[in-house]
Amino acid sequence: ATPAILAKAFDVQSVRNDFPILHQEVNGQPLVYLDNAATTQKPNAVIDAISDYYRNINSNVHRGAHSLSDRATEAFEGARETVAEFVNSPKKAQIIWTRGTTEAINLVAHSWGRSNIGAGDKMLVSTLEHHSNIVPWQMLAEEKGASVVPIPISSAGDIDLVAFDALLDATVKMVSVGHVSNALGTVNPIEYIVASAKNVGAKVFVDGAQAVAHFPVDVQSLGCDFYGFSGHKLFGPTGIGVLWGKEELLNAMPPYHGGGEMIESCSFAGTSYNTLPYKFEAGTPDIAGAIGLAAAINYLNQFDRGAIAQHEQDLLVYCHLLAEKCKGLKRVGEAKNIAGVFSFLLDGAHPSDVGMLLDQQGVAVRTGHHCAQPLMEALHIPGTVRASFSIYNTREDVDRLFSALEKVKSFLV
Ligand code: PLP
Repeated sequence: ATPAILAKAFDVQSVRNDFPILHQEVNGQPLVYLDNAATTQKPNAVIDAISDYYRNINSNVHRGAHSLSDRATEAFEGARETVAEFVNSPKKAQIIWTRGTTEAINLVAHSWGRSNIGAGDKMLVSTLEHHSNIVPWQMLAEEKGASVVPIPISSAGDIDLVAFDALLDATVKMVSVGHVSNALGTVNPIEYIVASAKNVGAKVFVDGAQAVAHFPVDVQSLGCDFYGFSGHKLFGPTGIGVLWGKEELLNAMPPYHGGGEMIESCSFAGTSYNTLPYKFEAGTPDIAGAIGLAAAINYLNQFDRGAIAQHEQDLLVYCHLLAEKCKGLKRVGEAKNIAGVFSFLLDGAHPSDVGMLLDQQGVAVRTGHHCAQPLMEALHIPGTVRASFSIYNTREDVDRLFSALEKVKSFLV
């Protein structure tokens, strides 16, 4: 059967029933959870998979010493296979477990960066980036005498592609951009960015932290060199994430951490390293995390991803409609293509006060600079209020947000 035939109809109410945390009151009001860009909630399938692992399988992997260890290894390596299929990786050995997106970027900055970046080289990052896609490159630049150059954006929050192309020359060795901006929701044109970067021989890292939960990602059709994401923003547990890389690049890269599992043989005369992916996975990995992440992907895979994207776009369109009618509200970020995020300011009100008063009414949003201070600086604002959507949000959640905002205005404005 094709995936389309297998796909379960997307019914938001039944999806909500899969997420136990949503059914509670916060500050005396039914919870409206709109902080999904920070982290998503977990369905029963994920909670049960983690609990089942610790109840029935817990054992260290790759030791092959006994049957439980074999079962743990099988589940752990099966999870890698699930992730490989999820991003359409040619091989499962190209899936490296990390603690999250942050560690995926640091791994590449350390390992690939230290052997490929030299004095005078440039690394381009967009002005939209999360700090975790800026600071590791800055640390590398400082060590090597290289520089990190920001790619400008328009006032709407789109990457300025003309300016990007103008920045490209033979000194640019890495272009690292988010697939989706966590602060504004901008979906970046990765295929274009990759094609331009390739013209000057630069590698491309795509930070997929905010993309994978919203639409299917195919690393082969994107054409990027590296792709990273976090399990916890994809309905999986915290502490687990993924680095995907092109095989020839990963093979040529030196290890990141040293320790158990990452060696082929170790002696005081010299140590040789393991093959992919183990070369990059020193120490006992987050076994339960990997299994939990695979459960999250299997959960998501039961649905038609197109229907999910449609549902989330519907929520955004509805949100933008109500925003137009909300006096004193100013949207921040009006890019051509937005996924999952509604960022805004209220005239005369500080974002953190708005967030606190929304919380008192049971509406959870994020306020501040969203770990994107250079972006806030470029937009000349201290921060925003950010409502971010996921598969279990409803139009009623959007209604609750806007009726709560009317109350906020009556207090603050
Ligand atoms: N990149 C983006 C775009 C993000 O939104 C985040 C988290 O908010 C990160 C990277 C860092 O992810 P993590 O903290 O899971 O490593």
